Amino acid sequence: MSNKIQEKTDIRNISFLELKQKIVSLNEQSHKSNQVFEWIWKKSKTNFDSMRNISSKTKKKLEENFYFNQTKLKKKEKSQDGTIKFLFVFFDGKIGEGVLIPQKQRYTACISSQVGCSLDCTFCATGKMKLERNLMYQEIYDQVVLINKACEEEYSSKLTNIVYMGMGEPFLNYKNVIKSIEKINSEKHGLGFSQKRITVSTSGISKIIKRFSDEKLKVNLALSLHSANNKTRTEIMSINKTNDIESLKEELIEFYKKTKIKPTFEYVLLKGINDTKEEIQQLVKLCKQIPSKVNFIEYNEVENTQYKKTDKKRVEEILSTFDNNKITAKFRQSRGEDINAACGQLATKNKKT
Ligand code: SF4
Repeated sequence: MSNKIQEKTDIRNISFLELKQKIVSLNEQSHKSNQVFEWIWKKSKTNFDSMRNISSKTKKKLEENFYFNQTKLKKKEKSQDGTIKFLFVFFDGKIGEGVLIPQKQRYTACISSQVGCSLDCTFCATGKMKLERNLMYQEIYDQVVLINKACEEEYSSKLTNIVYMGMGEPFLNYKNVIKSIEKINSEKHGLGFSQKRITVSTSGISKIIKRFSDEKLKVNLALSLHSANNKTRTEIMSINKTNDIESLKEELIEFYKKTKIKPTFEYVLLKGINDTKEEIQQLVKLCKQIPSKVNFIEYNEVENTQYKKTDKKRVEEILSTFDNNKITAKFRQSRGEDINAACGQLATKNKKT
């Protein structure tokens, strides 16, 4: 019996071709692989019982050869502003987090690509955790399915946007991130979610931005910039020591040339650190060199950091500077702060709840 279990494969960890070959080797018709793949990736089923057009005989064979690694929803917390934070438990007991951000006509899922993070951006709670492991593509996909289900239940709407901005650096789990996008996007064997409504956010790894540009996807790219000055940026984000602004600039220009998509700069406003006149002038200069837009983000207090948020008056001055320079810039107010679901606050501190 135990040998039999060991021989089983996670059915979501194989390609369509591999499934087809296996189904044929089990003396079943090859078209069944199409039906099974549809149940798994289009209808998001994680057991064979629910596959209604598959005969009991075939289901039995599938059960003898395959299993599903399950991702379960462990906890859901709703903020006063409607933002919902999700705690997921993966097949090995590791915990990840995701967030649903409802806006007027927009429902955005913020999903994680790793458990913890190997980087140590000073303003971020996830960076204070160690990297535990990369998430597999099916675990990234599962977060979308579970958040979408909650979105339908709570707001009677499907998700409209997906951002890879939760825990982890997506470009340090590149293959799984790309494969998850394929599963989320595919019309035939996936959720059919438009690439244009997906954004991958990176702390900035130049050579992987290049690789991402070469995929020629229609997926948006956001760069956590937080300062256009190398000295300041290195103090906030140590990744800048090896991936400085010059190298990022080069790859972002290439990204735009290849995809015709303007990258977005994410910029958490930190009082007296990156919101000064000089810092903002450097940012304006950079934005003029790269076709881009800017999302200023309100800073959320994270335990054990010395940062403060920028005053409202200064935020308005910064926004009018961008307006005067005809650069698209938005200010995003903090969401879900009361449940630690806001940007930079994701860290599994409620692990044991
Ligand atoms: S901001 Fe992103 S890359 Fe930086 S430590 Fe946090 S999760 Fe990691």
